[in-house]
Amino acid sequence: MTQPITLAALEQLIRARDASFPAPLQAAYQDDRRKFLEVAARTLMPRTIIGYNLFLPIDIWLLPKTAGLTLALHLAVVTPFMIYAALLIRRESRPEIRDAVLAFVPILITLQIMLIFRLNTGQNAWCYQYLAILVMVYTNISQILGFRFALFASAGTMLLYLAAVLTSAAPEPVKIISCALMLSTGYLSLESKAALERGNRNQFLRRLRERLQRYEAEDVASRDALTGLSNRRHLDERIETIWAAKNPAQKIAFVMIDIDHFKLFNDEYGHPAGDHCLKRVAGAISSVLRGQDDLAVRFGGEEFVLLLPDTNVETAIQIAERVRRAIESLAIPHAHSPTGHCVTASLGVAAGTAAEDSAALIIAADEALYAAKRNGRNQVHPPFMALEAKPAKVRRSAG
Ligand code: GH3
Ligand code: MG
Ligand code: MG
Repeated sequence: MTQPITLAALEQLIRARDASFPAPLQAAYQDDRRKFLEVAARTLMPRTIIGYNLFLPIDIWLLPKTAGLTLALHLAVVTPFMIYAALLIRRESRPEIRDAVLAFVPILITLQIMLIFRLNTGQNAWCYQYLAILVMVYTNISQILGFRFALFASAGTMLLYLAAVLTSAAPEPVKIISCALMLSTGYLSLESKAALERGNRNQFLRRLRERLQRYEAEDVASRDALTGLSNRRHLDERIETIWAAKNPAQKIAFVMIDIDHFKLFNDEYGHPAGDHCLKRVAGAISSVLRGQDDLAVRFGGEEFVLLLPDTNVETAIQIAERVRRAIESLAIPHAHSPTGHCVTASLGVAAGTAAEDSAALIIAADEALYAAKRNGRNQVHPPFMALEAKPAKVRRSAG
């Protein structure tokens, strides 16, 4: 299991600026980038394809000798590959494959430019080859590629360029100035690419921090400060969600829990000890929950309620009995309790379906709780034994 990222870890990464991300965060970042790329595939890639082909008339006008080959390379090789790369952004889920294919776009364009350049001579050809520098700059500032792949694409572009220029028949000073221009532009554009990427990663972390802060604030707002259990607000939200699903067949059970003679406990041991006792009782209640769907709520004072979705009355009574035993097993001394020598609780159970009114179910559980109190406390009402005796009759408990 992977550990969820904490706010503190995020803060540290934001401060470190260029630190590498732990694996799950890197995966989330890649996912985020993929969404950006999907937008880019729809907007930036078509513009790139059009922009590239807008150079076609200039290429042909500048170098008419190779017009046919230029046309064929533009329309039959490079443009189809660019379209394929644009489509791949949406289909390919593996970021390495996607970026590797995208990185070949500038390399292929450079290859096309340098090929046409070498098949021509003269001043026009020299003007033409500078377009390769524009390709590399565009690659590094367009943000389509991650830094590693931009570096790979730039290195490929530079090598092709240097090989084509240095083996050409141009005078040495022209070769030297062209290569120096290419290398320095490559270095500068990669520097800005790295800064852009650091900025993107930092922005991603900041967005994540905002989301996490919001979740934490929501979590604090839905919890009871003393016990850490859910509060009534959260209970109301869950009830609203369940009833909004409009599934009248869904089974729901409520268990109302109230500590026995808690006033006497406070009187004997003091309010702070009472608070401590409430925390321990809350812990015992939580320990009995079956999973995320069961909700334990501090209903108020020393009263708690369990909301048990998809639970029939038999199971709800069993769970309530487990809660009762868990509280008793804490063995918190309560010397003056008429019920025993330790802290105990009484529990009332009501079960029904989402076709019924939630408030009516809670009232029924409360009535059952008071029946448990009347019958002597430290017990569940309706009792499990009675249920076994006449299972068909017990649908909803009552006092
Ligand atoms: P019963 O068995 O009938 O439930 O008796 P009881 O004394 O528990 O019932 P009652 O409702 O009269 O008393 C509840 C007590 O719970 C009174 C109040 O002082 C105490 N209480 C409520 N909230 C808190 C709390 O947050 N901390 C502490 N320490 N005590 C609390
Ligand atoms: Mg009470
Ligand atoms: Mg009480």
